[in-house]
Amino acid sequence: MKANVRKLTVDDIPAIDVEGLNGKSLVEYGYYKVSLSENPEIYCYARDFGGLKPEEIGPYLYVEKSKYFGDILKIDIAAIKNDERRNTIKLIPVVFVEDVPGMNAKIFQNLETKKYYYRLSSYPREKFARWMTCEKRKGEWQSLSEIRANILFSLDGQVEKVTCTNWNGPAVYEENFNKAFEKANYLVECLGCENIIDLAYCGREDHMSECPFCGFVYDLDPETMTEKDIAEIFKEEN
Ligand SMILES: [Zn+2]
Repeated sequence: MKANVRKLTVDDIPAIDVEGLNGKSLVEYGYYKVSLSENPEIYCYARDFGGLKPEEIGPYLYVEKSKYFGDILKIDIAAIKNDERRNTIKLIPVVFVEDVPGMNAKIFQNLETKKYYYRLSSYPREKFARWMTCEKRKGEWQSLSEIRANILFSLDGQVEKVTCTNWNGPAVYEENFNKAFEKANYLVECLGCENIIDLAYCGREDHMSECPFCGFVYDLDPETMTEKDIAEIFKEEN
């Protein structure tokens, strides 16, 4: 699609306000008005072109049919951000550091740069996780900026990938979600042989966990077990 792109000016404010938007702030934040060359009636306001110059945006425009609002012009930011030529694939090897108290989140550390990452998870409700940089301030982990598309996190050879969608930004979505990151710290000393094993990888077909060294069977389903379940078993048996 061919696009007309122009920066908003103060002259646009009254017309934007009529649409129910805040014209003044759109102008202040440097928004553009994007419309189709062949149909300037369909347009959108945009600020973030995913790193593209305004004149490069044409191929990423699409028209969405809306029941209530008619045709809406949209920019496929996800396609731009997931483009591996634009955002190259990068592998970051990490180790587990600790859980974040009160949150379904874990801290990991970059093995090479020693930087910390915050992984906030929606599992088991849904296979979704968001990675962010973070640091510890006054004893509490604070997430900072989100991780871009096409970053792969690697934990002991287990990998999950960050990609972008147009509705939810860069995150790990179902197809790239890796449960190994959920149970990164399920390391225990086997009750049968005293080897250190990771219960996350000890699943059997009958939904039990089994030590790969001695065959000791734990009454735990690696798909659904929680740290509390594990603590219970080890409390009972000891
Ligand atoms: Zn064992």
